[in-house]
Amino acid sequence: MTVPAALNSAVGTLYVVATPIGNLDDIGARALKVLREVALIAAEDTRHSMRLLQHFGISTPLAACHEHNERDEGGRFLSRLQSGDDVALISDAGTPLISDPGYHLVRQARAAGVAVVPVPGPCALIAALSAAGLPSDRFIFEGFLPAKAVARRTRLELVKEEARTLIFYEAPHRILECLEDLEAVFGGDRQAVLARELTKTFETLKGLPLAELRAWVAADSNQQRGECVVLVAGWQAPDGEAAVSAEALRVLDLLLAEMPLKRAAALAAEITGVRKNLLYQVALERQKNA
Ligand code: SAM
Repeated sequence: MTVPAALNSAVGTLYVVATPIGNLDDIGARALKVLREVALIAAEDTRHSMRLLQHFGISTPLAACHEHNERDEGGRFLSRLQSGDDVALISDAGTPLISDPGYHLVRQARAAGVAVVPVPGPCALIAALSAAGLPSDRFIFEGFLPAKAVARRTRLELVKEEARTLIFYEAPHRILECLEDLEAVFGGDRQAVLARELTKTFETLKGLPLAELRAWVAADSNQQRGECVVLVAGWQAPDGEAAVSAEALRVLDLLLAEMPLKRAAALAAEITGVRKNLLYQVALERQKNA
């Protein structure tokens, strides 16, 4: 195993440590070792993380590093690192920086020549994707959608024709609104998965077309509780006839009755503005099925 050497051995290392998203057994052995051995743990919420540390019998001092103080207090952690202390960065759950604080501290540390070492582990979006059964070779993570309806729909419009699997984080009190907007923008037939309470007692992974998923969540208030990830299958370009308007098909059919297929497709493309190759394919399909 290659461990990146500190850029300057007199300087400490900043470890970015993932912690469980529910089930405490998911903590990694290396995470525990690092949390035990560093001089200081920078935590999103010290009271919350105190419970985690107590559970594992770790007594390393904690200091707050959250959204509101991260930029200003970064200097404090940086001077500890520069004086040779190792520091671990954790968030309330999962991987720091993933819809969680830490970005500014990591940037500042790297800019100052401090080695930043990831200690990987739980992350809700990866856990959800790994079990959702949607294409996982290419995906995009959109984080939390805007809370306001207009901004949320505008954001969704931007990714409506995204071919990769889409992953969203959502708060339980907005899950229904979120599914309603996903259905309105992406269409009710698009396949989606709700991954709720992962690694916890009421873990649920439900995969349905968006219209059915929205109805299922609306009908059961239990599904509107807890933490959730929403995954939506990427957009698939309609092929063949489905991609061509009824008017373009009418023009193509009229021309096919009068001239050879290749000429009909070329002329129909000029008249309708639809791609010649697409009309050629459609013409072939129509002749085959005639
Ligand atoms: N840093 C975390 C990670 O690595 O996944 C994410 C933190 S973000 C503030 C919290 C959001 O992550 C929740 O609102 C939910 O969308 C998702 N999340 C966290 N834990 C989850 C769980 N156990 N099951 C489902 N979603 C979860």
